[in-house]
Amino acid sequence: MARGVTIDGVTFGYGATPVLDDVSLEVERGQFFAFLGPSGSGKTTLLRLIAGFGTPASGRILIGDRDVTRLPPWSRNVGMVFQSYALWPHMNVQRNVAFGLERRQFRREAIERKVADALALVGLSEFADRRPSQLSGGQQQRVALARTIVIEPEVLLLDEPLSNLDARLRVEMRVELRQLQRKLGITAIYVTHDQEDANAVADSIAVLDQGVIQQIGTPIELYDRPANRLVATFLGTANLIEGTIEAGGRFVADGFALASIGGAPGRACISIRPQDIMIGPADSGIACRITEREFLGGIARYHTAVGPHSILVDVPHRRGGRVHDVGDTIGLIIMPTQVSVLS
Ligand code: ADP
Repeated sequence: MARGVTIDGVTFGYGATPVLDDVSLEVERGQFFAFLGPSGSGKTTLLRLIAGFGTPASGRILIGDRDVTRLPPWSRNVGMVFQSYALWPHMNVQRNVAFGLERRQFRREAIERKVADALALVGLSEFADRRPSQLSGGQQQRVALARTIVIEPEVLLLDEPLSNLDARLRVEMRVELRQLQRKLGITAIYVTHDQEDANAVADSIAVLDQGVIQQIGTPIELYDRPANRLVATFLGTANLIEGTIEAGGRFVADGFALASIGGAPGRACISIRPQDIMIGPADSGIACRITEREFLGGIARYHTAVGPHSILVDVPHRRGGRVHDVGDTIGLIIMPTQVSVLS
């Protein structure tokens, strides 16, 4: 595995306020990596430290095999795309994209060729003469991308790059971003608080909360095997149930029990996704009453009452399919393989 970016035991604070606590992670070269977490969890701070805006109190940052911890931003060979795009309003698209190359004193012909290539790559060749104010939000975002990739950085850092776009454009742009990253084979790190964005673009995700890494894995690993409550609830909907694991692996909670769950005996919290629970007749599983139904088109979501617990169950809906009513008594069938024991 070739190293892209290595964060090794990084701790950082603003004044006396700690923001990152002993953060370590490894981004492979060519990987699309996401930092995901609630607002204020330290994602942007970590990205800025990689870019060189700030120095860790302790720990190291490597790009490839180079220790860049103490290097200034311009010596790190990284490119950063900001949420606000940060385009020059008085320059046209061509000049905005050429700016970084001019500062690096490339020859005129080289600049023209590189800018033309970058604009072609983001599909903006026709717009070279426009000012940023004459472009849509999505086009401005593409200019910001072109301006960054034109300097051929080793690592592309993206700070909530799609959050100023409307929902439809955002979905389109993240597909484009992913395709562009693959085409360039560049290492990319994407900061977002939106789990759907992270799932859609990233090969691997680090979930942060309060400056501490909660879990690192592929989107599917995090979704299917969350390590703790924050990861379980941050990446989609989860039924969390407090109870006790008995010797032998049986989980017991107020109102019901599940056999063969495993895990260390003692107090425990389990997580089950709503779509991982099946519905059968009342005598076929854990008997419960439907207290609420939300018909969402592709799925029907039932709220069910099991003892003091409210458990959500999602059932895919097909035309003509059976829909249960509020007040119906049904059985919940939960396979042990669909249950995560949280730490
Ligand atoms: P995120 O990107 O996950 O939303 P940030 O990295 O921006 O989080 O912020 C992490 C914490 O650091 C927050 O509590 C924030 O208030 C604080 N913080 C961010 N920037 C500064 C700053 N320049 N000075 C002081 N505190 C800051």
